Amino acid sequence: MAENRFTRRALLKAIAAGAAVAVMGPAPGRALSSPVTTNILRPPGAVPEEIFPAKCIRCGRCVEVCPYGSIRPPDVRDGIFAGTPLIDVTKIPCYLCMKCVEVCPTGTLSRISQKETRMGLAVIDKHSCVTWNQELALCRTCYNVCPFKEKAIKLDQLRPVVIEDFCTGCGICTHGCPITVKSGRKAINIQPIYAFKPVKW
Ligand code: SF4
Ligand code: SF4
Repeated sequence: MAENRFTRRALLKAIAAGAAVAVMGPAPGRALSSPVTTNILRPPGAVPEEIFPAKCIRCGRCVEVCPYGSIRPPDVRDGIFAGTPLIDVTKIPCYLCMKCVEVCPTGTLSRISQKETRMGLAVIDKHSCVTWNQELALCRTCYNVCPFKEKAIKLDQLRPVVIEDFCTGCGICTHGCPITVKSGRKAINIQPIYAFKPVKW
């Protein structure tokens, strides 16, 4: 795990870049649109993306406290989003330890539980999933690794099906899926969800 950790130097650079952009504004031509996209997500409990870069002070506490090195802020190429926390679940997913939401001093990550977490929604690409497109394939990796197996993901005639109301978007299934397609995506990918949606378990 150690080699995957975001280094302190890299963190400080990203934070400094974010602070500079906040003061001076983004360089001409630099990104103004959010880097949040399929499989690139905010940590648990995040406020809506529209206000995230204004509310996050880029203190780096969430990055430092994550024991898995899941959170990696983008650099200055992402303009006003530099230094804010992102999780690329294809590299290291969120293991839902919930430490980051405890240390965030601004409420940009609010203190929610594992089950309340909605970083995104897992979506199966049935054309790429071998279990869906090959009669005899027996892969059930996404089902097997899901921390909420039988709640967030079930098997329908031995094929995985995501249950929208209970999927946390942690990305553990995406990370584990053995199928990578040309775009770099997997056969199961996480679509970001911005709004916090509580559910009854
Ligand atoms: S289906 Fe995937 S993203 Fe959803 S809770 Fe299970 S492992 Fe996490
Ligand atoms: S891990 Fe990937 S290939 Fe295997 S069943 Fe799940 S989506 Fe399909």
